[in-house]
Amino acid sequence: MTIYEKYIKRILQLEKNFQVTTSGRSFLNAPIFTVKPFDTKPRVLITAAIHAREYVTTFMLLDLIERFGNLPIVYVPMANPDGVRLATEGRSFYETYKERLTDAERQVIETSNLLLWKANARCVDLNVNFDAGWGKGEKNATKAGSENYIGDKPFSEFETKVLKRLSLDKKCVICYHSLGEEIYYGYNNEVGKAEAKMLSEKTGYAYKTAKGSHGGHKDWFIKSGLGIGLTVEVGSENMRHPIGIEEAKRLADENEGIKEVLREFKYV
Ligand SMILES: [Zn+2]
Repeated sequence: MTIYEKYIKRILQLEKNFQVTTSGRSFLNAPIFTVKPFDTKPRVLITAAIHAREYVTTFMLLDLIERFGNLPIVYVPMANPDGVRLATEGRSFYETYKERLTDAERQVIETSNLLLWKANARCVDLNVNFDAGWGKGEKNATKAGSENYIGDKPFSEFETKVLKRLSLDKKCVICYHSLGEEIYYGYNNEVGKAEAKMLSEKTGYAYKTAKGSHGGHKDWFIKSGLGIGLTVEVGSENMRHPIGIEEAKRLADENEGIKEVLREFKYV
């Protein structure tokens, strides 16, 4: 069974106890699922796997969803389904859609180590495609690539449009990435510092501001004045990309304290 098939199986299992919705579609028309407890109107959005190779965060989040039960939170366990399939199924997946790409995009994919792929299926790094200092990030690239390509314009991608729409009525956005054991708060400001500090105490991860980072989901969320946003990098530097899904349960144990942080600051 592929990683994507395992994900779909877990989503189907969640349907018994949670409201599962197709909130949008990817470039390749894959559903972008959201999960939330029935009859709740959450003010918190938690996302995972906006970067393809970081799919361990999907499985960590699926574990956390089950543990958190009816806490009012809406989850996007896999924000970049096409990218995850490219990183885990490789060339065989690419062959199914390559006629939809430009020559430049095909060349990037054909010359990349797909195991380390971060972008979506058409070579845009979704976490630099948001409208917050778009194109000003230190590592930003203006050409198709396996990472760091900002896209034609802010929110050029289906996946980032979906995340934007889901964020607009929220007060708190938590974005899971791997790796580094770090919590990033603020966007050229101190927004979310108290929450980041408490989460740092719960997880043992360092908390800091991200200098030179622009165009990310949390960057845009904070810049728009909607609320606080945190980027949480799970997994230690001793690990290597991609982190296998067998680590998901341990990472969920390590990150379960987010629940107490959300309660303490009255987001749930
Ligand atoms: Zn990432």
